[in-house]
Amino acid sequence: MTTYNPTHSGGCLCGAVRFVASGDPVGGNHCHCDMCRKDSGSGVSTFVTFATGSVTWDGKPTDYESSPGKFRGFCPKCGSSITWRNGANDSTIDIRLGSFDDPRPFKARKHLWMRNALESFAGIDPDIEHID
Ligand SMILES: [Zn+2]
Ligand SMILES: [Zn+2]
Repeated sequence: MTTYNPTHSGGCLCGAVRFVASGDPVGGNHCHCDMCRKDSGSGVSTFVTFATGSVTWDGKPTDYESSPGKFRGFCPKCGSSITWRNGANDSTIDIRLGSFDDPRPFKARKHLWMRNALESFAGIDPDIEHID
């Protein structure tokens, strides 16, 4: 009997930070908040949530504390934004969808901060939960 345990590799633009996430994600969201917009330089940020312990790193993102206890991780060399995590609950980590070498296996489950969404760029899908 074989166990289904997919691995998902990824990293920053320059390759100084690499990771492997094992198993299935526990969530996925599009975030429309102002801070994600500034952080990414994009209209909407898309994250895949994994259990922190299921992700191994080669190279380490530098943390920026964007609000008290909330950390955004970026590559210290090329500046690519890679992660978001809540310091008060380190059981999960959000990894930017575009950081994965193959982002196709993942599915968004929620839109967050919908009251802040830019309709022209949000790519709003009526079949996905929208949370104000
Ligand atoms: Zn880099
Ligand atoms: Zn956000």
